[in-house]
Amino acid sequence: MFDFWKNINVKLNVKKIRSMDSLKPKIAIVGAGNVGSTFAFSLMISGLAREIVLIDKNESLAIGECMDLNHGLSFAHPTKIYAAGFEGCADADIVVITAGANQKPNETRTDLVNKNVAIFKDIVPAVAKYAKDSILLIVTNPVDILTYVTLKLSGFPSNRVIGSGTVLDTARLKYMISNYSKVDPNNIHAYIIGEHGDTELPVWSNATIGGMDIETYCSEYAKQGNAKKELKEIFLKVKNSAYEIIKLKGATNYSIALSLVKITRAILRDENSILPVSTLVNDYYGVSDVCISIPSIVNINGIEQYVKIDLSDEEQKLFKYSANTLKNFIKAIEFD
Ligand code: NAD
Repeated sequence: MFDFWKNINVKLNVKKIRSMDSLKPKIAIVGAGNVGSTFAFSLMISGLAREIVLIDKNESLAIGECMDLNHGLSFAHPTKIYAAGFEGCADADIVVITAGANQKPNETRTDLVNKNVAIFKDIVPAVAKYAKDSILLIVTNPVDILTYVTLKLSGFPSNRVIGSGTVLDTARLKYMISNYSKVDPNNIHAYIIGEHGDTELPVWSNATIGGMDIETYCSEYAKQGNAKKELKEIFLKVKNSAYEIIKLKGATNYSIALSLVKITRAILRDENSILPVSTLVNDYYGVSDVCISIPSIVNINGIEQYVKIDLSDEEQKLFKYSANTLKNFIKAIEFD
């Protein structure tokens, strides 16, 4: 009986797939602050992971968060949730890094670069030591610069180092366009690309609702004001959302946590989802050697490949400006 199944498996040449093989996805979260703990909570509710490890230099915070999460488990899915040191990254399918300083009111994301690069110089080698085969998902800001730093410090292949990038900004854009156009956000196809920060840009030239060019759709069906002007104002609101939320409540946590669940699901379930994550680009409209958000196919391998969407001349100019801004910060970083 057992030999029979063994033979069948040999004949079918069953493909060995990370995590689906064991059906025990394990996610390690480095940083148990606002973002890390909210992601852990969202992940526990999603039922995607069988094991969630929280790692924080503030050990009591990580332990306390795990206790609180565990006490809600009987209302969620069976999941092993615990606090650990960096050895907890061993065998993780994905290590999500949210550790580091966050923006204070009126601070830009790039203002955090020196503090968080220093923290990553400690964290990344410790993670890479235990999580040799894992996918690393970077969230800490400035996320594009730290994705590049992680790539260099870990020595991992670029498909396994992903920045959450403009997945959140794109979700904000869809939400606000949905309110304006009165259409389900799932029927709105639009991306924000570039830096997750002040130089990001919307790709209006490619944006559609129900298969129609977005501006034409909004002019014909939304009929509130001038569509071009309204869409421009919506983008400015999106770009400034984090500043506004941080002024009001000190941090952003829910929408980024759900963006991370979306990326995690795309990886663990091998979805081939196209998401604007931050990835290393090579000659993307002439831009190379920088991590920046562009639509990319995300699956069990991490980033399967990125997609070269058509950009108008103006969008190409803005994209290059965004990339150069990031590159200027990267140039000043010492990798010893
Ligand atoms: P937070 O201060 O609440 O949490 C950060 C945690 O990191 C703290 O608990 C701290 O103890 C821990 N930490 C610091 N150094 C560490 C180290 N060396 N090892 C282990 N843990 C360490 O901050 P937050 O609000 O959770 O934000 C975290 C980061 O995420 C910030 O950089 C923030 O800007 C970023 N963020 C990114 C996005 C995005 O879209 N990419 C969205 C929201 C927040």
